[in-house]
Amino acid sequence: MDKNHNELSRRQFLRRLGIGSASALSLMALGPLQTFATAATPAAAPSSPRRGDDAPASGSDDIKMTYRRQNGSGENISLLGFGMMRLPREQEEVNRLVDYAIAHGVNYFDTAPMYGGGRNEAVTGAALSRHPREKYYVATKMSNQNQQLWSFGKSKEMYENSFRQLRVDYIDYYLLHSIGGGGMDALRGRFIDNGLLDFLVGERQAGRIRHLGFSYHGDVRVFDYLLDHHDEYHWDFVQIQMNYVDWRHAGRGRRRSDADAEYLYGRLEKLGIQAVVMEPIRGGGLANVADDIRRQLAEVRPDDSPATWGFRWVGSFPNILTTLSGMNRMEHLEENVRTFSPLQPCSDAENQILASIADQMAGFPTIGCTTCAYCMPCPYGVDIPGNFAFYNAAVTAGQLPLPAPTADDYGQRQEAFIAAYREALPAEKRATACTDCGQCLSKCPQQIRIPNQMSRLVELTRKRRA
Ligand code: SF4
Ligand code: SF4
Repeated sequence: MDKNHNELSRRQFLRRLGIGSASALSLMALGPLQTFATAATPAAAPSSPRRGDDAPASGSDDIKMTYRRQNGSGENISLLGFGMMRLPREQEEVNRLVDYAIAHGVNYFDTAPMYGGGRNEAVTGAALSRHPREKYYVATKMSNQNQQLWSFGKSKEMYENSFRQLRVDYIDYYLLHSIGGGGMDALRGRFIDNGLLDFLVGERQAGRIRHLGFSYHGDVRVFDYLLDHHDEYHWDFVQIQMNYVDWRHAGRGRRRSDADAEYLYGRLEKLGIQAVVMEPIRGGGLANVADDIRRQLAEVRPDDSPATWGFRWVGSFPNILTTLSGMNRMEHLEENVRTFSPLQPCSDAENQILASIADQMAGFPTIGCTTCAYCMPCPYGVDIPGNFAFYNAAVTAGQLPLPAPTADDYGQRQEAFIAAYREALPAEKRATACTDCGQCLSKCPQQIRIPNQMSRLVELTRKRRA
């Protein structure tokens, strides 16, 4: 650990974490949000883009967005998609973001019934419906993860409600949400045994669903099963988590059955199924990188942020239909639009730099939390993503891991960490409130052993007896 880290004051530490005296939730906002979007179908786009060969395509000279052509329908989808998972509270602010996105060529908007505590589909529908229907493509999902929603009747109700919330009479991209969690048993219960998947295939035939796909987290056997049955279901697209760290380090700290993005992308490419990418900057972790990594990137492209590097890396792959980013602040949206207008693919040398950085980052003891909040609310009040975001920021800032308890500076470093933690989170939201009830475990798409990690945090903040 370098000397500077040892000398960080509490205030300096907070500043380095980027949170000042604010809640840890503000850390989450630093990350890119993810979901989907829509937009005007631009004129000609390359039919089979190769790496580095995407032509900007739009009906307007002002729009420089890069587009990808959807294999089946031929429609042009903006390579930057708008993830509507975390949105501003005010509808007017959401409208402003959506208007800017559409005006700059973003045309894919992704939401789900469970986003925003059940609010975001309606907010998304209200914002998008102010635009001509042909100007946007909307994606939403069957979020029936909760076992109480597994019946055909309840699931169908959720499906039909999505049309009302989104104010549409057809859904452009419809996904089986987060398959993989709960393994094959959950897949059978949610979609197969109740006849729901057959129903959704029928809805596609009827034209109420234009493209049918699924989003995947967790047990790779479910991913493989659905692709093994591609001849039966004819998947139009599949949504996967992909970024330059998860390319070869996805399973770190999670279950063995998790697969690297390299495997997921490779299987889809071989089958000719385009990928929609979520978590392109890993829940914000690749935007808020350690100073040393930031320096390595700036030496090559001084004007690009770490987030821009992450988006460029993903967008450089030819079998990506769109890259979802959650953009709840105008400055994030503006920067991302610049990155994709048009996309400058990564060179081989840049890919090598990012591969090396991924290897370095894989050695960091971060928790693989993307701050998606699927695990919330915790019945005992723990702010689960807030705790993990704080912990990860401390690792990124070099404050963690703490040195051995016998080290001279152990007490000073731990004091700084504890003070920052207390300032970021009120007592009732800290890890100490966790009762180990386990209710959050099955909800986490990243398969994080949440109560175990809470115990680690408690241990970190427990002062050593003199
Ligand atoms: S295990 Fe802990 S964090 Fe998870 S729901 Fe229970 S109390 Fe909350
Ligand atoms: S712990 Fe899991 S479910 Fe909760 S916010 Fe993090 S990644 Fe999402």
